[in-house]
Amino acid sequence: MNKKEKLYHKLLDLVKEDNVKVDEMLKDHLYTKLGGKADFFITPTTFEEVQHVVRLSNEEDIPLTLLGNGSNLIIKDGGIRGIVINLKHLDNISSEGGVLVAQSGARIIDASRLALEEKLSGLEFACGIPGTVGGALYMNAGAYGGEVKDVLDYAYVVDKEGNLVKRLASELDLDYRTSNIAANGDIVVEATFHLKPASYEEIKEVMDDLTYKRESKQPLEYPSCGSVFKRPPGYFAGKLIQDSDLQGTNIGGAEVSKKHAGFIVNKDNASTSDYISLIEHVQKTVKQKFGVELEREVRIIGEDKE
Ligand code: FAD
Repeated sequence: MNKKEKLYHKLLDLVKEDNVKVDEMLKDHLYTKLGGKADFFITPTTFEEVQHVVRLSNEEDIPLTLLGNGSNLIIKDGGIRGIVINLKHLDNISSEGGVLVAQSGARIIDASRLALEEKLSGLEFACGIPGTVGGALYMNAGAYGGEVKDVLDYAYVVDKEGNLVKRLASELDLDYRTSNIAANGDIVVEATFHLKPASYEEIKEVMDDLTYKRESKQPLEYPSCGSVFKRPPGYFAGKLIQDSDLQGTNIGGAEVSKKHAGFIVNKDNASTSDYISLIEHVQKTVKQKFGVELEREVRIIGEDKE
């Protein structure tokens, strides 16, 4: 038995067979629809399974990568070596007495919808963010004046040793689109939000307004990774790209959105290398025209295709 087969059998001792996939195409699981194969793609169904997989990766010294809905990162065409964990089966959301508890693989959009049904205000800002609850905590996701930091009470995480630990929101260093979750090597498995009672109509009105704003500005009809570039000091990335006449430019199946210049959409089955080449083309053109360096907001991970 080779090393990969041995690891496969060890994983089967920890996680049900249906939840251990070998050489799984990642683009089939991610919002961007980009990315090559993962050696092992594990979808645990309990916190204990997450703990076991973390411990195994430590014992065997195998890299472990955590993916949410893949709406804020780009995975290269050569995929990811080692174990990829995705928590899509840990997606329970419940609410009682003004407190909403969401497992981290749940979509933050679904958490905000349940809050509406329960007449709880505070998660309206999240109604159009296409990530998981775990991904939202990781980067303190926010929109239109609201952010995770405003409503998070505490989270349960599996730490890098595989222990289940409670972390108060104040311990997570939540700040503008950042937290200490990556630096600590934590995997968020559940989040508890403290919300305020409000009328269904009030909450719905805010959500409808934010949805309208988002749908009228963002190219939601295509896969993408959201805003590709950070806002350069004193400028707007989208405006610089627009004024460089780059909207509609494409490489392979990737295109600078005609609707929102700050987005690059996966219009027609793009490869990640098309996508990255287009990002670099945009950076080079804006630098030549305006002398401004556009810094990427979105992370790129994985291996180049051989
Ligand atoms: P992924 O992209 O899968 O992962 C991002 C990072 O989070 C990775 O490093 C991953 O390891 C880590 N991570 C994921 N799950 C966990 C976990 N359980 N525990 C620890 N770490 C974890 N963002 C905003 O803030 N505001 C917006 O308004 C917004 N609008 C967007 C609109 C569009 C059309 C798109 C495509 C994206 C938008 N985003 C926005 C970006 C993105 O949706 C958010 O950053 C989201 O929170 C990412 O979650 P994810 O599950 O997709 O994470």
